[in-house]
Amino acid sequence: MLVVRHLVVHYGTAEALRGMSFSVAAGETVALVGANGAGKTTTLRAIMGLVRPSGGSVVLDGREVTGSSPAAMVRRGLALSPEGREVFPELTVEENLRLGALVLQLSRAEEGRRLDEVYHRFPRLLERRTQAAGTLSGGEQQMLAMGRALMARPRLLLLDEPSLGLAPKITDEIFAIIRGLARSGTAILIVEQNAARALTASSRAYLVAGGRIVHEGESRQLLLDPVLRRAFLGAASDHNPAASRLGAAGLTNIRLEKPLMNQNFMPSFTSPEELAAHQLRGLQWTVRHAYEGCSAYRAKLEAAGIRPEDIQSLEDLRRLPFTTAEDLRDGYPFPLRAVPYEQLVRIHASSGTTGKRKVLCYTQKDIDDWMYLFARCYQMAGVTPLDRVQIAVGYGVWTAGVGFQLGCEKIGALAIPVGPGNIDMQIQFLLDFQSTVFCSTASMALLMAEEIHRRGLAEKIAVRKIIYGSERSSRSMRAKISELFGGAELFDITGLTELYGPGMGIECPDHDCIHYWADYYILEIVDPQTLQPLPDGEWGEMVVTTLCKEGAPLLRYRTRDITRIIPGPCTCGTVLPRHSRIKGRTDDTIKFRGVNIYPSSVDAILSSIPGLGSEYQMHLTRDEAGRDHLRLVVERGQGVERARGMDLEREIEHQVKKQLLVSIRAEVVDYGSLPRSERKSKRVFDTRIQDEIV
Ligand code: ZN
Repeated sequence: MLVVRHLVVHYGTAEALRGMSFSVAAGETVALVGANGAGKTTTLRAIMGLVRPSGGSVVLDGREVTGSSPAAMVRRGLALSPEGREVFPELTVEENLRLGALVLQLSRAEEGRRLDEVYHRFPRLLERRTQAAGTLSGGEQQMLAMGRALMARPRLLLLDEPSLGLAPKITDEIFAIIRGLARSGTAILIVEQNAARALTASSRAYLVAGGRIVHEGESRQLLLDPVLRRAFLGAASDHNPAASRLGAAGLTNIRLEKPLMNQNFMPSFTSPEELAAHQLRGLQWTVRHAYEGCSAYRAKLEAAGIRPEDIQSLEDLRRLPFTTAEDLRDGYPFPLRAVPYEQLVRIHASSGTTGKRKVLCYTQKDIDDWMYLFARCYQMAGVTPLDRVQIAVGYGVWTAGVGFQLGCEKIGALAIPVGPGNIDMQIQFLLDFQSTVFCSTASMALLMAEEIHRRGLAEKIAVRKIIYGSERSSRSMRAKISELFGGAELFDITGLTELYGPGMGIECPDHDCIHYWADYYILEIVDPQTLQPLPDGEWGEMVVTTLCKEGAPLLRYRTRDITRIIPGPCTCGTVLPRHSRIKGRTDDTIKFRGVNIYPSSVDAILSSIPGLGSEYQMHLTRDEAGRDHLRLVVERGQGVERARGMDLEREIEHQVKKQLLVSIRAEVVDYGSLPRSERKSKRVFDTRIQDEIV
């Protein structure tokens, strides 16, 4: 009956409607649901001819009627009950009603019949027929506005915010009348901020935000969809839509102003050839950018005899010198900076001892790219704008929390930035906010899982996805986390600060591999000893080269992470290439409670404490609660008396806490009691991961 196509309305230069398209069939009740300012009222006014559209069309019964006068629209069978009722307060109820049929120029007898019909439907108006409309209650004025519209006997009634400002009981009454009208065959287009009400009263609904339709479906389906219900309707239910009147309106206000549901962050290339061409352009740009913008890179490239114009194919990548963590530490603080300081908008740093942190700098484009890539991670994990993402990773100078946050907001989901630790608060938020996605390290996820299990809360939380990273995890650990979280799906996310941060790749829904963002960086696998590239499928060290990073580009950066490229396409269907989950690290770096500990930092601390020997061992264990422990066993110096042991232990614990920011337990043992080796002693005993890495 009514078809609205690409309707555009401007108020001055502001665009109120940005291409609204929807339809209403004869006799159907259709709801437009959305927040204040979403464009719902403007839509009704444009259909009715009260505002002139600057684009698009309104088609009624197959005839274009765009821009017709309000009177003409009434004659064609439309009537509007406007927002705010707009009754004439000085006129009586009956005088107000007569105005509704004025343009139809009815006979006195016909007008009388229609008045009777309206009074029959609204007995309250009959009681008040000679009263000035200004003396009516809000609910009665709403009845009057509807009654006045019905005087034209419309085939399609446009109802704008019928429940606005009314008490729940009065709203029930108004909606009972609306249902009666619908049963009598009048088509109704209802605009409502109270989503629960509108969905209960209608058969189909469109969700409106930013002057556009963002979602549509059968109202019953929308109302029953558990995700949508949590997101849009608060505690409302089909049986008790009024329960969350305020909650619904409030949540609707927040959520409908967000990005569109169907944003796509996946790459545009469709074939390996297209990707290769894109990578070559990016590589050529990066080498030139690094050469021209960064003296350290220039010196390295010159030493290797390479000029930017030498990069003619992707094979030429192998001629580039490697970049290492040492390059970053030696040139502290900004060795890889390739743009002027004025173009930088942010720095991040990785953990490390004072003065030896790895510091990376970002331009606005770098931040935007990172945000985009992180949004891609969420998209691959199936996170939508309806999700509530509890972010339990660290916020601060390191890249974790802020990256999770950027991507979450980009995709339009609700971010709950809790940060790490604080199990009680995490649990409370999982319950109170019904978070649907939980982001943390693997050991934090395990800790939470155990706690949820211990308190018997698996049934009461709503987590359906867990995104975790920064740590190795075993198959059995994953299975346990998933089980105790009530069957949540796990996604391993990868990344490193040197690249952009976390979010550089993620496990796909088929859970066999990590897809990585080959349109933003090239991933090579090299033999960690010979540094020669290894064929696809073989395990080796991951080396990355960025393709468009401005602030601190990476040329063949050795990540020390051990993985392998998995050849061939994935069952999930994406064209993005993939690698195995990270198996470990080539150097002895220990990841402990989210902090990278380099054996060299431990060496430095121990040798600064008088009375200690040079031999030590680090024992990493994981207890039943999933908490990691580090025990540092150190020999006393030769000739140092045993009685000093306790003091030395306290001093080691104190210095490690102060310099590495982690709590450990120290144990001082007799000189000569630790095993010696002619080659490099084994110092690290990590029993945290016991079973197979997948
Ligand atoms: Zn896949």
